[in-house]
Amino acid sequence: MKLFKKILIANRGEIAVRIIKSAKSLGIRSVAIYANADIDSIHVNYADEAYCIGDVELNDTYLNIDKIINLAERTGCDAIHPGYGFLAENPKFVNACDQKGIVFIGPNTESMDLMGNKIKARNFIKSIGIPLVEGVTGDAEKLMNEYKKIPFPILIKAAAGGGGKGMRIVRSDSEMKDALEATSREAKSYFGDGDIFIEKYIENPRHIEFQVLGDNYGNVIHLFDRECSIQRRYQKIIEEAPSPTVDPELRKRMGEAAVRIGKETNYNSAGTIEFLVDSDKNFFFLEMNTRIQVEHPVTEMTTNIDLVREQILVAAGNELSIKQEDLKQTGHAIECRIYAEDPANNFLPSPGKMSLYVEPQDEDIRIDTGINKDTVIKSFYDPMISKLVVHSENREKAIVKMEKALTDYKIHGISTNISYLKKIMSFEEYETNNISTHFCDDHTDDIIKEIKDEKNSTPISIPIIAFFLYSFKDSYNRNGDNKDIWSYIGYWRNARTIKFELFDKHNETSEEFEISVEVQNESGLFEFQINDKKYDVIYKSFDKKTNKLEFYLDNQHHITTYISEKNMGRGFVETENAIFEISRNDILDDSITLKEIEESSVGSKENSIKSPMPGTVIKINAEVGQQVEKGDILIVVEAMKMENNLIAPRNGVIETINVKTGDQVDGSISLIILEEQKEESNE
Ligand code: ADP
Repeated sequence: MKLFKKILIANRGEIAVRIIKSAKSLGIRSVAIYANADIDSIHVNYADEAYCIGDVELNDTYLNIDKIINLAERTGCDAIHPGYGFLAENPKFVNACDQKGIVFIGPNTESMDLMGNKIKARNFIKSIGIPLVEGVTGDAEKLMNEYKKIPFPILIKAAAGGGGKGMRIVRSDSEMKDALEATSREAKSYFGDGDIFIEKYIENPRHIEFQVLGDNYGNVIHLFDRECSIQRRYQKIIEEAPSPTVDPELRKRMGEAAVRIGKETNYNSAGTIEFLVDSDKNFFFLEMNTRIQVEHPVTEMTTNIDLVREQILVAAGNELSIKQEDLKQTGHAIECRIYAEDPANNFLPSPGKMSLYVEPQDEDIRIDTGINKDTVIKSFYDPMISKLVVHSENREKAIVKMEKALTDYKIHGISTNISYLKKIMSFEEYETNNISTHFCDDHTDDIIKEIKDEKNSTPISIPIIAFFLYSFKDSYNRNGDNKDIWSYIGYWRNARTIKFELFDKHNETSEEFEISVEVQNESGLFEFQINDKKYDVIYKSFDKKTNKLEFYLDNQHHITTYISEKNMGRGFVETENAIFEISRNDILDDSITLKEIEESSVGSKENSIKSPMPGTVIKINAEVGQQVEKGDILIVVEAMKMENNLIAPRNGVIETINVKTGDQVDGSISLIILEEQKEESNE
């Protein structure tokens, strides 16, 4: 067997860790690269060697071809694995590897070039007779003249598009001209290529894709299908294998089409052929991704093939050892992408500091991630925290397992989509496979409402009592009993009442509660009075590893909570169905920094424009002295691959601009300040 000696991994996060794992299993040494901002990531420690190649900027780090190639040479690597994203589909990078005699672990540049441009890919797929969504390609004039050949709705797409960006749906003639121009402009600014084309927009399709593997000897196989219809903003969040929609006959036809595409392009690595499937089970080629795909674990768990290992072996010059007839799908796997984002706020990315990170643990659960403890989720990278994957005998059991795993996944301090994903698992349409790529558009409001209703139905006494008991955490001894509490309790005996505050992040409001506590006896019975109501509480246990706190409420209810502290006296309590943010007002919150105090005196909220999250300023549309209207877009901040328009809160004149394009900002500073509003004079 031909093998590399040492591989450089030109990526970060979970996929870097994943690749190192396969390299280790083959006895190949690994070299990690990292940005200074990633110093705490698992991939840095896990690799045999790791080198910091820059601070934060992508062009300075994970996208810097020269630095990466030089490092590979210097460290004696004979191959580079690009992972996904970054340089994975960049022919320039492949050529740079070739020039130095370093093997790029991925496909040949011809197939990469062809499939990297959606117009070229369409023309090619058409030429080999594989079904394709009806469309028109050509210059702006041709698109304008010929779009009527395609019935509405029509989708305008960027030739170089990716990541669900650069697409626009058009439903009438009057919108067409503007939409073509806007999409082309957007494509130029995002992908450096303004070429666009149009396609029939298929209503409520499914996204079903096939995994392929090819080698340098003309062998191409497929490893079956993945259902990827659950998407938000055209990006997948739940994937499963096998697709519950595909029957054996359809699987055979789609698999043959996928292999045919692989063979016709001399495909020699791991790749994915994406299809749209309409309600009559017609399938249409959508695009091919010439790299390892985020959702590859569901294929691995159902075929028992390590795709990254195969990728490495093929790149080293070995013939594929697996034959199509030897492959079969066993059981059912589901992957949920855990994102730092707020589904209740249009899935806005939510970077920031975690205060608790506890992973579920069970058989047949796989978690691919770049972190292993509570950490800061950075705004300049993708908001994916991890991929949670489960495997079971069948879809029904896999859904139950995933629901339980999501319940056991504890992340505090930032918003995540965990409860959103969990709700999907028990959503009737999902359970009965009545889904399409519109699932999230159609059901998010209902899902969010259910989540909020559940939170509202949790008695607030539970988080308050839990947070109170948590304050004694240092006094719980190893055996879990609360003997030592008595040395801590003195202070409380004298305190008459204490105020707790519950925060509602979405409404930016808080509610205050007055609590008095009495300790009834030395067996640990507390009597709480919250506002006018009394509660008997017995502490049961606190696990310092998982921050799990258990107690009995009114002698009968066994309550389990997970608690973490954000700042002194302020933190999060997770009950069965919700996470509460809470503070004890007798403890000074140490989170208010001098900067915030200064900021708060700069001007009222109405005068200053702040970013809702940390990110990079990519555009400033205003100048000092300029008169702006309420709603004007003043600044665009990019965070986690999403653009956020910051708008003028009122009509006014710009007094100061505190940032410039390219600056990293966070939510604490005023980016733009409007002049103080003068009293209207009556004269
Ligand atoms: P990207 O390369 O940006 O990921 P894709 O072409 O793979 O873009 O499409 C992403 C998603 O957009 C698909 O999974 C599907 O939900 C939707 N989509 C793309 N083309 C169409 C179409 N013609 N009709 C309906 N939905 C589409």
